[in-house]
Amino acid sequence: MSKKVYIIPCSGMGKVYGSICRQAAYRVVNNLRHGKTEIECLPLIVKGKKELVDELKKNKVITLDGCTAMCAYYDVAKVIDEPDAHFLSTSVIKENRELKPEPTIYPLGENAKEIMEIFAKEIAEKVGELLDGEE
Ligand code: SF4
Repeated sequence: MSKKVYIIPCSGMGKVYGSICRQAAYRVVNNLRHGKTEIECLPLIVKGKKELVDELKKNKVITLDGCTAMCAYYDVAKVIDEPDAHFLSTSVIKENRELKPEPTIYPLGENAKEIMEIFAKEIAEKVGELLDGEE
């Protein structure tokens, strides 16, 4: 059976970079890599729901974090060892300094939306690499 890629964003509820992670995950799962990816809830993984942990282990996993606390990465690593790839949404700003994100979380501001789109494309590219040879 074809593998898929689980995209696990951090919860980052009160931070714009956390919100960028969540929105980018939706963009990848609903549009850019629709049908090849799924999003899952980090708290359910932390809780260790067996069926979900088994699914993650059988497939590929990308974690997305909004700051260097890297909650998604470390929480996922506790249950499946290493995710197959990991991204920080803050890294996008290093190459796009003019896009300082607005602090608004909902809805995202214009710069934050642009960062989210760039981030989503990077994630989608990685999904392609991870599935290369697996389909
Ligand atoms: S990685 Fe940072 S933004 Fe995301 S949930 Fe953890 S503390 Fe919040």
